[in-house]
Amino acid sequence: MTEQNKLEKIVSLCKRRGFIFPGSEIYGGLKGTWDYGPLGSELKFNLKQSWWKYMVHDRENVFGVNAAIMMNPKVWEASGHIASFTDPLVECKICNERFRADKQEDIKEHEEMHAKKKQKIAWTEPKQFNILVEAKLGVVEGEKTTVYLRGEITQGVHVNFKNVVDSMHPKIPFGLAQIGKAFRNEITPRNFVFRSREFEQMELQTYVKPDEASAMEVFNEMKNIRMQWYLNLGIDKNKLRFREHAPDERAHYARAAWDIEYETPWGWDECEGVHHRGDWDLSRHGEFSGQDLSYFDRETNERFIPWVIETSGGVDRALLFFLLDAYKEDEKRVVLKLHPKLAPYKAAVFPLVANKPELVAKARQIFKDLKMTSLNIAWDDRGNIGKRYYSQDEIGTPHCITVDYQTLEDGTVTIRDRDTMKQERIEADKIVNFIEDRSKGF
Ligand code: ATP
Repeated sequence: MTEQNKLEKIVSLCKRRGFIFPGSEIYGGLKGTWDYGPLGSELKFNLKQSWWKYMVHDRENVFGVNAAIMMNPKVWEASGHIASFTDPLVECKICNERFRADKQEDIKEHEEMHAKKKQKIAWTEPKQFNILVEAKLGVVEGEKTTVYLRGEITQGVHVNFKNVVDSMHPKIPFGLAQIGKAFRNEITPRNFVFRSREFEQMELQTYVKPDEASAMEVFNEMKNIRMQWYLNLGIDKNKLRFREHAPDERAHYARAAWDIEYETPWGWDECEGVHHRGDWDLSRHGEFSGQDLSYFDRETNERFIPWVIETSGGVDRALLFFLLDAYKEDEKRVVLKLHPKLAPYKAAVFPLVANKPELVAKARQIFKDLKMTSLNIAWDDRGNIGKRYYSQDEIGTPHCITVDYQTLEDGTVTIRDRDTMKQERIEADKIVNFIEDRSKGF
């Protein structure tokens, strides 16, 4: 398996096994959109839940926000997106396909594609192109207002800074977290869910005192926390790295910016960013809304505009990187070695054979009891045991539980480990503890 065809294999597995489908496929699709199927929805839910637990519930002074996707258009003027959320674009004069002028690799690839057909390419001059997605809101034709589907989830948090301070009275430094959809008119959506036009982000905005030393302390802490989250969920540490933004890459207001990158089949690429945004967000929203967005520190009797340290990651990108990292194959099987916390099913229950009613009844009872716990459990009675193991390995189920004749006598089952393929016999009423213990040690 080469690295490049690993991506193709994952795209195909995702379609075949119900993780991710091309968006609106029966109508020929919609470029840059993807639909999550039954297993993909579970995986995504587990990923977001793990992020929320680690970034919000495990920390003090971090609160959640869930803002509207459509916002007053002034938000985007204040944030600078209307003026500057633009990419210079060039268009191929042969096929009219557009590319970002700064993405030399895509341009070269496109030129090579035409060169193979013995065509000599010509490009248009670069043109600015705003990547905010517009929508029309209102009931009367002609009186509709143009709104934007949010291009990033960040602004929904900053516009609620005052509401949170007034309702929760948090002590600085404090964090506001959000997970939600963002939309961008990406010029070249590509690499499966890595770059799409509709995607989800997960972000923590930490408000700190306007003081460089304490801001940098939080910044460095956030960098480490974010890296640790990926490592805790089992990503190969050799495939992750930090990269500092070059000065010309940074937003003009950013005082420091680092990315966490993953080594993908197409090279090192961005997973998420950690940014020191200074007072840009709150100052601009204060100015454009006419509201006082300062913070009064009761401990020091000072009033100031807090600075913001942001961690901003893509849910879909992280999900793709977890899949790429977990995908293994040998002559006998394909296995997704997903961390048990991420795996769509924590275990699958099988009757040894499907045509013995007493075995099926016992297995169904164990299955139903397990479903009432916090674990998501699959049922499978198709084909033989070997095929069922193969099928569960391919979707990353960490444990397979088989109910056999001995179960009817002594209440024990066999439990098979996805990674070692070893089987043990345990009492059926110890399954939950067994699975939970294994998940902890991962
Ligand atoms: P890129 O340079 O790849 O376009 P960016 O630097 O513009 O990304 P940010 O605006 O910092 O990205 O967004 C934060 C995170 O949101 C990114 O690290 C990425 O994980 C995710 N993200 C951004 N754009 C997309 C997209 N089009 N599809 C999927 N995820 C995205």
